[in-house]
Amino acid sequence: MPTSEAKQLVCSWKRCQRPAADENGRCILHSRNPQKDIDAFGAVLQNALQGHYLSLSGVVFPKGFKVPEFPPCEPNLSEAVFFESVSFRGLHFRGQAAFLGTEFHHDVDFSFCSFEQGAVFNSAEFRANALFLKSTFSKGVFFLATHFYQDSQFKECSFCDSVTFEYAHFVREADFSGAEFRASVNLSRTEFLDGANFSDARFHDTVAFEVTDFSGDHVFEYKNAVALRVLFEGSVTFFRTRFDGEARFVANDFGNGVDFSYARFGDAAFFTYQKSLAPVR
Ligand SMILES: [Zn+2]
Repeated sequence: MPTSEAKQLVCSWKRCQRPAADENGRCILHSRNPQKDIDAFGAVLQNALQGHYLSLSGVVFPKGFKVPEFPPCEPNLSEAVFFESVSFRGLHFRGQAAFLGTEFHHDVDFSFCSFEQGAVFNSAEFRANALFLKSTFSKGVFFLATHFYQDSQFKECSFCDSVTFEYAHFVREADFSGAEFRASVNLSRTEFLDGANFSDARFHDTVAFEVTDFSGDHVFEYKNAVALRVLFEGSVTFFRTRFDGEARFVANDFGNGVDFSYARFGDAAFFTYQKSLAPVR
């Protein structure tokens, strides 16, 4: 039966056509075997790195493998697994970057990156630190139901289009200090279990925090200069938001009003020097 035998030799991962190489019928890229041959893996990966559309969907990066520089392209790393730390620092993503369900078992660095066509990190798992320092997202970015288990830093990021963290789960503090949100931000149903820091952040459009859970300390605070105040140009809602830790709202500018209806404060809440030209509820 040459036909059926040939079929069995093809990788069992989705529509991968590479030859099966492990006991589970997966090719060298998709094999989860921790002992897989790093040199053979690297050779096959080099081939995959060619072309404008880079499909590394489901690829399992073995421990000890040095992830190479990605070429400027439209990378699809959905469901990929990184067992080692990985750096995308300074990369320029010209096409939409897809990281749906990607597992990062070690630190990952997306600092100083620019995402020209946006990025999708839905259901991705950051099991170690996730760094997004000073990155620019020119189009929409999605962190829907993304899990951050260690520190996550979005310091001084520029979000030029809409961004959603709906159902995202932050086990450690999320740092958005100095970040600029030019379009709408959806932080509804986001869980910040160790608090979130939005010091010096700028919100130019609508911010939704509906049913958001801030279990740790939550800081909307400016440091020591008037220019560094948090500016909300769009409407802000903290409707049914829960603040279990201390909540400090210092010198914020709610240009279009703010809604704290049914918000719950489990600890001390400070509201000092707020400014709003629109109704505050
Ligand atoms: Zn495969």
